[in-house]
Amino acid sequence: MSEKVSRLEFGDCQVTSSILDREIQSMIGGKRMSKRILVLGNSNVDFVFKIPRFHYPGETILAEGLSTFFGGKGANQAITAKRLGGNVQFITKLGNDHYGKAYRHHLIKSGLNRKLILEENKLQTGTAVIELTPKGENRIIAFLGANGSLSVNDLKKLERHWSGVGVFATQLEIPLPTVERGLKMAKDQGATTLLNPSPPIRLPSKILSLVDFIVPNELEAQFLTGMKWKRHQHIRKIAERLLDMGVRNVAITLGPKGLFFKSRSEEFWMKAFRVNVVDTTAAGDAFLGALATSLSEDKPIREALKFANGAGALSTTKLGAQPSLPSKRELDAFLARMKGKT
Ligand code: ADP
Repeated sequence: MSEKVSRLEFGDCQVTSSILDREIQSMIGGKRMSKRILVLGNSNVDFVFKIPRFHYPGETILAEGLSTFFGGKGANQAITAKRLGGNVQFITKLGNDHYGKAYRHHLIKSGLNRKLILEENKLQTGTAVIELTPKGENRIIAFLGANGSLSVNDLKKLERHWSGVGVFATQLEIPLPTVERGLKMAKDQGATTLLNPSPPIRLPSKILSLVDFIVPNELEAQFLTGMKWKRHQHIRKIAERLLDMGVRNVAITLGPKGLFFKSRSEEFWMKAFRVNVVDTTAAGDAFLGALATSLSEDKPIREALKFANGAGALSTTKLGAQPSLPSKRELDAFLARMKGKT
C-alpha cells in the first residue's frame, strides 16, 4: 500500500488509474477506510405467528401472538452491514402498495440510498409468513411479489452505482438471471462476491465460478451438492464438493453448532457462542451481513468469521428479523464479553 502511494507521489505513471482509485478510496488521511458493499436482494414484510408447536396437515391451531416486521434476506443482510458500520448500498424492488411505501420509508431512514430502491406497479411487496415455536424454531412461507420482477434490465439501469464496489452480496429470492448478472457486474469491478444460496436451487458452475464466498446453512449445502451428512466428517466432503463446483471459499453455517470453513488452503470449525435463543429468524442474514462488513474492512478470514458468528448468535436473542440485527456497539460488547468462550 505505502509503496503504491509513494510511487504515486514520485509521479510513477505506470500505476494504473483503477488501482489508484481503489487505493485512494481505501486510504484517506492515513486511515484504512472500508470498501463499498453492495447488496442485491429481496425485501419482505414478515408476519410472525407465535405457535405452541408446528401443526399437522388439515389441523387448525390458534396462534399465541402475531407481530409484523420488515424482513427479507436481502434487506436483512444490507441492514446488518449498515448497523455494523459498513459503507452499504442496497438494490431491491418493492410493490406500489401500503407495505411497499412503509418499507421504502424504513430503508431510507436506515440510511440506504433511495435511488436503488425500485418500485413495481403491478405486483405486491414480498411477504413472508413465519411460524415460530417456543423453542425458537421457525418455518417460513415466502411470497416473492415485486422481488420476482427485479430484472437484469433493472441492473443495467443502475450500472453507474456499481463503480468501485469492493464487496457484493446476494441471495436467491430474486430471479436467477439477475443474481448471475449481479455477480458478473461485481466481478467486473474486482469485488469480492458472497452468495447466500437460499432458498437453495441447483446452481450451474457458470454462476458458482463467479462466487468468492458461498454461505449456505447445512440444509442448503446438502441440497446444492446432492450429498447427505450424517457425521461431522461429511460436512468436509460437502465443502470440498462446493469448491470443485467452482466457488473459492465455503462457510457452512451450522446453527447452534457454529460453522465450518474451507478453502483450497485452509479449513477449520468454529463453535457457536452460547446464548439464550428467542428466535432464530435472520441468524443466517446477520451472519452474512457481518461477514460482508468484515471482508470490506479486509479482516483476515478467521477474524471475519468470528465477527459473523457473533452477529448470528446475537440475532437469535431477540424476536423478529430486523429488530434482532445487532449494532456495531452491541456486537463489539458481546464479543468482548464472550472472549475465549466459543
Ligand atoms: P440460517 O438462519 O440461514 O438457517 P443458521 O441457523 O446456520 O443459518 O445460523 C447462522 C449462524 O447464526 C450460525 O452459523 C451461528 O453463527 C449463528 N447461530 C444460529 N443459531 C444459533 C444458536 N442457537 N446459538 C448460537 N449461534 C447461533
